[in-house]
Order: sequence, then structure tokens, then C-alpha cells
Amino acid sequence: MELCQQISVLRQKITAAKSDGKQVGLVPTMGYLHAGHQSLIQQARLDCDLVVVSIFVNPIQFGPNEDYATYPRDLERDSQMAYAAGADLIFAPPVADMYPKPNLAHVEVDLMGNCLCGRSRQGHFRGVATVVSKLFNIAQPHKAYFGKKDAQQLAIIKRMVEDLNFPIHIVAIPIAREQDGLAMSSRNIYLSPAQRAQAPVLHQALVKAQEMFTLGERSSIQIIAAMKQMIGYQSLADIDYIEIVDTETLQPVEILDNSSLLALAVRFGKTRLIDNITLGED
Ligand code: AMP
Repeated sequence: MELCQQISVLRQKITAAKSDGKQVGLVPTMGYLHAGHQSLIQQARLDCDLVVVSIFVNPIQFGPNEDYATYPRDLERDSQMAYAAGADLIFAPPVADMYPKPNLAHVEVDLMGNCLCGRSRQGHFRGVATVVSKLFNIAQPHKAYFGKKDAQQLAIIKRMVEDLNFPIHIVAIPIAREQDGLAMSSRNIYLSPAQRAQAPVLHQALVKAQEMFTLGERSSIQIIAAMKQMIGYQSLADIDYIEIVDTETLQPVEILDNSSLLALAVRFGKTRLIDNITLGED
């Protein structure tokens, strides 16, 4: 497996692969890989001839009080994990190459970026859509792989690709979880033992919601109230939001149909965890 840090070198390699008729898959990540990232890489390996994993902690998607400086980074470990999952190439550009000048051009997906996580993370999804556009323009893959863990991000990228005619197929991968149900995340290492012990309540509350839905409950208010009560029993959990929205547009749904996204964000101290489920589907 190769490590590539220069945009021009990556472009040459991908151009050569494409002219040989190879299918190129891109897995965008911020690194500190875990089994969730690996499941994206494994699917790309099955689908594509050249699997590129980008590792880039994107400064423009972090707010001033967020964890950009302390976000975990370990390129050596990531290389091993990406290789084990089947990657051919890691693209890890320096920030100065991705943003040689202050970034003036941005990609904003209206309405979808300001709700859910966007409410407490102003500008976050503009930063995400902008860097993903840059990565798409740099790598020009046939397919790009995103986790359902970040459901809002996935919906925004799908809409961006549709609205802006990127010739890229977006592949969505199910959420990888720890044995106790906690969704895998690079940020889980921030949790204290006591917080970690309470964190599986997020998944338990989602399962409870799924059960209510299966038993016929169709009122968002009722489902959310039951979840709030359940999460509220955990002393260290501080709910940011629990919402049920349309899977594609992310706009609130009051009476549920078969494809509603139930998404939540809960803080444990400074660590904000997200999780979700598609009611009626998973
Ligand atoms: P990140 O490095 O956190 O930006 O994530 C990179 C990609 O991996 C995104 O598409 C995420 O949705 C995906 N991802 C992160 N955690 C998981 C998980 N537990 N299961 C599935 N995909 C995930």
C-alpha cells in the first residue's frame, strides 16, 4: 500500500488507473481509524480496483471551541488498519496543500446543514460539503463510501452530488457498533470509564423506539418522550437533540411513515456522541 501526500501525485496515479479501465473508490475519513471505517474500506475493496482512503482532519469543519487541535491523529496506525481492510493508497495531504489560501469558495446545501447537528455546530456542514467537493474534484472517483453513522452528512453529500451533478455514485454503509451497542467513533476515546459505561443508552433508546414503531406507534412526540425519559435516567447524559426527520430532506416528521430518520446527539461532558436509526428499516 502506498502513502501519497501530494495532490498532483494522487491525480497522476488515479489518471493512470482510470486509463487502464480501473474502477476507483474513495473513502473519505479524518483518520484514527476503527472497525467502522474499515467496513467502508472493505466494501470499496469488493466494488473497486483502486481503493483510495483519504485521511484529513479538515480545519474548516470545526468550530472555534471544538476539538480540531486535539482530534486524535496516528498516521502509522491508520496505514496499518487501512491496509488490513484492503486499501491500495492513503491520501493524507498537509493542510497547507488543501488550503494554500484562505478558502473563499464554499459549498452549502441549504436547509439540510442548519438543522439537527448543524444547530449546535454552525458552519460544520458547509466545511464538510466543501472538503468533500475538493476531495471529489481531486480524486474524481467512480464511487465514494460514507457511513450511515453520520446520517446528516450522508444526506447532505447525496443531495450535493445530485444538485451539482458530480458523476460519483455514493455508497452508504451500515453503522458498526461495539458489542454493547455503542456506535464506533474516533471520539469514544474521550469518554471517561463512567461516561463510557452509560453511553450504550443511546443505542438502547434507539432500539426502544424501533420496538415502539414496530408495535404501531406513529407519533414522533410519543417516541421522543419515551427516549428522553430513558436517556434521562443516566446521570452523565445531557441530550442535545432527539428528532425524527425525513431521511432525504431532514425536515421534521410528526406522523411517521416507513422511512423516517430518528437521529440524536447526547453530550457526556465535553464529548458529543451521535447515533441514529431509520425507523421501519433497520
Ligand atoms: P470520520 O473519520 O469520523 O469523518 O468518518 C469517516 C467516515 O466513516 C464517515 O463516512 C463516517 O460516517 C464513517 N464512519 C464513522 N464511524 C462509523 C461507524 N461506527 N460505522 C459506520 N461508518 C462509520
